Amino acid sequence: MLTHKFKLSIFLATILLCTSCQNDGLDQDDLNQERPLSKEATATLDYLIEKGFSKEDLKPNFEDEAFMHGDMMIPFTLKSNKDANPPKEGSIQEKNRWFFGGVGVYYSNSRDVRYYVENNYPRNLEYALSWAAWHWSVSSRNINISRTYNRSSADILVGSWYNSNEGAWARALLPDGRGNVGAWMRVNTAKPHPGDESTMALLIHELGHNLGYHHSDQTYGGHIPGTNGVAYHQSNNCGSVMKSSIYTCNWRFSSTPGWSRDDRTAITWAYGN
Ligand SMILES: [Zn+2]
Repeated sequence: MLTHKFKLSIFLATILLCTSCQNDGLDQDDLNQERPLSKEATATLDYLIEKGFSKEDLKPNFEDEAFMHGDMMIPFTLKSNKDANPPKEGSIQEKNRWFFGGVGVYYSNSRDVRYYVENNYPRNLEYALSWAAWHWSVSSRNINISRTYNRSSADILVGSWYNSNEGAWARALLPDGRGNVGAWMRVNTAKPHPGDESTMALLIHELGHNLGYHHSDQTYGGHIPGTNGVAYHQSNNCGSVMKSSIYTCNWRFSSTPGWSRDDRTAITWAYGN
């Protein structure tokens, strides 16, 4: 009996210890950075540095198994993928797949993209989300993004998180290089999201990351032929919906897409008309 009590007190002490270690003043990101990277993650990191990313800007997030770069999340497995059937060299699929630092998607996988709305995604933002998906769907015959109510058949899980200490209003996972779109997108509910056209522009931007687009005002891995360069996009707020800071510009819910000239060029280049 005494032994039993002793064991119980050790158990309680363990619980108390663990409770206190959550309040040690370190935030989760600091803790994450202490952990060693897997072989795949290290290979991905090397690859990204080779593409022009700086190591300091790539924070590993072990929970999502991805590097955080602003609102873009880059899967740890990007570099380590072995493709059994690589797209034909010079084909649009090959360009599409490899151009954006190796994170593009195959045409075939962008024709029927389904998103699933998680329970934690704000109900009042579903309207803006459905219009964001619609704008992408009418942008190219090779892109179609629609909602599914079957979670297991979804390509993109749309949810939320809450962190008032973070600068990011939303985050999206880039494709992992296997030819599929990025697997999730989330909004930070600590930030105001009015649910209007500005929210829709944000969601179009995040879905753009899921489709493989990087920021128009930051060059990593290349420049899309026919589009203006980084300097142009840094000084033009409406030059692209993929600018790292997002402006409402000409975006409206229906009928008049707000794609800029460069957005259209980028879509045509990667996906066709
Ligand atoms: Zn972004």
